Amino acid sequence: MLKIIDALKLAAEFLEKKDVESPRLNSELILCKILGTDRVGIYTQFDKPLKEEEVNEYRALLLRRSRKEPLQYILGSVDFYGLNFSVDPSVLIPRPETELLVDCVLKNLTPETINILDIGCGSGNIGVTLGKHLPNSIITCLDISLEALTTARKNADRNSVSNIEFLEMDILSDYPVPKKFDLIVSNPPYIARLEKNDMQKEIIDYEPHDALFVDNEMKFYTRICEVSPCILNKNGKLFFEVGLGQASKVREIMENNNFQNIIVVQDLAKIERIVWGELK
Ligand code: GLN
Repeated sequence: MLKIIDALKLAAEFLEKKDVESPRLNSELILCKILGTDRVGIYTQFDKPLKEEEVNEYRALLLRRSRKEPLQYILGSVDFYGLNFSVDPSVLIPRPETELLVDCVLKNLTPETINILDIGCGSGNIGVTLGKHLPNSIITCLDISLEALTTARKNADRNSVSNIEFLEMDILSDYPVPKKFDLIVSNPPYIARLEKNDMQKEIIDYEPHDALFVDNEMKFYTRICEVSPCILNKNGKLFFEVGLGQASKVREIMENNNFQNIIVVQDLAKIERIVWGELK
């Protein structure tokens, strides 16, 4: 019978051989999922033998990870801003830098902020988190993908957020009417399709390309700024997450579309990551 401590050692060696980053941590977290425990749980049971079906399941999940499937899809969930979100290949895995976007929104609200629109909601990480923190607001989450909206809805339920609605829509060709919003937030696709080849296999092979890549990096920023006067109230705020080196271009697009008091915020890696402003 294989003990936990030995299984972990074998698993970490296997993942290391397959060039998986942080092989020991990955091995521990995958085993935690199978045993329904946390890392402390496995540390305190090092000598416990695994059942045959547990070993088989562990082997299957390790194989998936060795093929560079993201750990979060294997575990099925990810923590974001203190909440927990289901993730699957229909949605982008929420990134830590997007927590900064949520943080900027929460720190710069006015008491009049009631109607909030999240464009390209994916797993719902932004909209659901805002809904949780702002129980008196109404959050509208919009996405082009029906599968993503299903996951986002599940995440609203999972986190007991009910002040939220979901809309299937392509913001590039349409926009929500007749409602107007006090605040719009978006983490749109912003990676140039050309850069695809330089990216990790985990991302390229598994995450939804429509949520990541775009032919023209400024396409979504331009479109959202252009439609904002029709869907955002006067003095309403617009918050964007942007990619590396994009902040000044996005600022310019905002300025050209009647936005003022534009602020750029750096993330922990000192990358200009958030651009936000106010409609005149
Ligand atoms: N809003 C989601 C996130 O920030 C999805 C973004 C996207 O699909 N581009 O993770």
